[in-house]
Amino acid sequence: MNSGMNSGMNSTLVFGGTFDPVHRGHIESVCAVARLLADVDVYLVPCQIPAHRPTPAASPEDRLKMLELAVGSQDRMFVDDCELRREGTSYTFDTLLDYREKLGESGSLLFLMGFDSWVTLPDWHRWEELTNLAHLLILERPGADQESPDVLRRWCETRQVQDPKEMMNSASGNVCFLSLDQIDVSASGLREAIAEGGSIQGHVNPLVMNYIRQHNLYTGASSKKKMPANEWSTNG
Ligand code: ATP
Repeated sequence: MNSGMNSGMNSTLVFGGTFDPVHRGHIESVCAVARLLADVDVYLVPCQIPAHRPTPAASPEDRLKMLELAVGSQDRMFVDDCELRREGTSYTFDTLLDYREKLGESGSLLFLMGFDSWVTLPDWHRWEELTNLAHLLILERPGADQESPDVLRRWCETRQVQDPKEMMNSASGNVCFLSLDQIDVSASGLREAIAEGGSIQGHVNPLVMNYIRQHNLYTGASSKKKMPANEWSTNG
């Protein structure tokens, strides 16, 4: 982690993902949520081995580096490599348990996810216990289902709140759905575009775009062949 964890005075927002690669949808969404909550420390947590999806195309080191480039030196926003340092499959439960231990019993802890992740929750390790550790904040996402599966709808009944700020007054236990300006970009779409030689300009931070080009990521090429520089503008 590139900063010491706060002492529990403020709320903490954790945003996990493969970030393969990190894109505008991630950064602008988490920034919009942070602005809305107004007084929150944000931690972006790249996973090592995702539990329910194929191994990421880029290495953990590359995904971490791209995330650090995208986050830069934004106030109260940090990249936390805790899952990369942990052995084996990355479980959100374990990560939130670590945060809870560091924050103490009363610090408000929120976990942010897109709706496409939310609908898979019943497959997650110890998913029903996640709200013992944190609040869950779910963002609408372009192209994702609009309806929660029945099991989640029922589970939410006693937990749901309408205003995410309510979550900042308690440690854990609630679920809230948020609809913000949606940014229609996905990491899989970007990987496909790169593999097909297309442009990803405007969808990722220019520094991330440069990193992808310099390290020849997502091209599907096994060799370290450099891409022609003129195919890759760094404006974005
Ligand atoms: P992929 O296309 O490979 O599934 P992704 O774009 O969903 O990747 P992840 O790293 O898997 O990226 O996502 C991390 C988290 O960010 C997930 O909770 C996901 O729902 C959320 N997320 C990703 N893109 C967006 C977006 N454009 N708007 C809102 N949430 C998003």
